[in-house]
Amino acid sequence: MTSVKRLFVLLCGFEIIPKTVSTHQIGARFIISVPISAYLLDTDSGWVLFDTGLDEANLRDPAKLDALYLSTGWDPQPVVKPHHELERQLAEIGIGFADISTVILSHLHADHTGHIKHMPQAKFILAQREWDFVRSGEAPSYFFPSDYDLPGLNWQFVSGDTQLMDGLTIIATPGHSPGHQSLVIQLPRTGPVVLAADVGDLMINFTDEILPGGMTDQAEALASIRRINAVVAEHQAMLFLTHDPELIQQIKLAPDYYD
Ligand SMILES: [Zn+2]
Repeated sequence: MTSVKRLFVLLCGFEIIPKTVSTHQIGARFIISVPISAYLLDTDSGWVLFDTGLDEANLRDPAKLDALYLSTGWDPQPVVKPHHELERQLAEIGIGFADISTVILSHLHADHTGHIKHMPQAKFILAQREWDFVRSGEAPSYFFPSDYDLPGLNWQFVSGDTQLMDGLTIIATPGHSPGHQSLVIQLPRTGPVVLAADVGDLMINFTDEILPGGMTDQAEALASIRRINAVVAEHQAMLFLTHDPELIQQIKLAPDYYD
């Protein structure tokens, strides 16, 4: 018995980054392009979104593009084509922002928080540690407060592992950011799937236990890679990553789905 009926993988754009952003101190000579993913779950308790991509409006406004990206060294800026836009992808599935009842956020980096502002009716589930971190004033420039520091949002802060419903569990995977969290879901036909978000951008982060380039705690980041590997092995689960450029070409993308 599971209450998650379908999983849609949403390809929300691409980032162009030094490889060392994905693999700590490895690949300094290479620039790579990685996808930005988000995930939509069709559940017995409504539509649940895991992450929200980034806000293409910030890329198309020259002043915001400069303030949020280019002037802070995020150059070149990410690429979001019209068919990557979250609203358009939801429409192809037959829903809109207003139909999303719950948004689970892996963490608050800007390539995950872009469309929070378009879902004021939703409940937003975030790790308490992530919220405490952005409240501390220590968050670097790739956190965009204009994405998430908004009045009237219905936040639910969680600590550690949290089962939200049958077949949908949040697991704490800190290290890439202080409150990073991942999802373990159970689908009727596909079986278990782990959505590891940014624990590692690339499969090689997991197969070879290579740390991510961006970390707030090295020991936690390694422990989270090992935890994901253990959960995948224990459940014989499929592993989906948010930023793997090879994986994204091999898996089904919305409006197709896993059931
Ligand atoms: Zn991140």
